[in-house]
Amino acid sequence: MARKEIKHRQVIVIGAGPAGAACAQRLAEDGVDVLMIERRSIIGNPAQCGECIPNWGEVVGTFSNLEEHKWLYDYFQFPERLKLHNLDNMRVFLPSGKAFHFELDAFAGHRLHFRWIPLR
Ligand SMILES: Cc1cc2nc3c(=O)[nH]c(=O)nc-3n(C[C@H](O)[C@H](O)[C@H](O)COP(=O)(O)OP(=O)(O)OC[C@H]3O[C@@H](n4cnc5c(N)ncnc54)[C@H](O)[C@@H]3O)c2cc1C
Repeated sequence: MARKEIKHRQVIVIGAGPAGAACAQRLAEDGVDVLMIERRSIIGNPAQCGECIPNWGEVVGTFSNLEEHKWLYDYFQFPERLKLHNLDNMRVFLPSGKAFHFELDAFAGHRLHFRWIPLR
């Protein structure tokens, strides 16, 4: 029986969701030999997402100390063609019937369209 060849990688990322894909991309850009493994045949499908995507203003307004992270800022510069419409407000309804209203700096986009963003 033929032996399988073992190929070593510096980093293996399990899961090609937003976190894994961003991590693998960052590592690859820095010259790290990275392999990303995803169990689903179509990444991001079925979408676990309401397709509400925060703009940079929402990100730095929600999380502190991110302004200095230029690489993260770059990630949040989305092409206009991805923006289906702006989301300025959100209302969340609880099963009890109570509702909460938030102002937002976000847009709606179709998650599958993200496949067409070229790597920098
Ligand atoms: C109903 C719903 C609506 C949402 N709406 C929004 C929204 O509108 N806007 C927004 O910004 N966020 C939204 N979110 C949150 C968003 O989906 C998550 O924050 C985001 O997907 C988290 O990314 P992640 O990479 O951490 O995990 P995931 O997106 O869950 O990615 C993990 C990946 O790992 C893969 N995986 C897991 N185990 C293995 C394994 N053993 N081997 C190989 N692959 C594996 C999975 O298949 C998956 O692709 C929503 C979430 C839900 C549930």
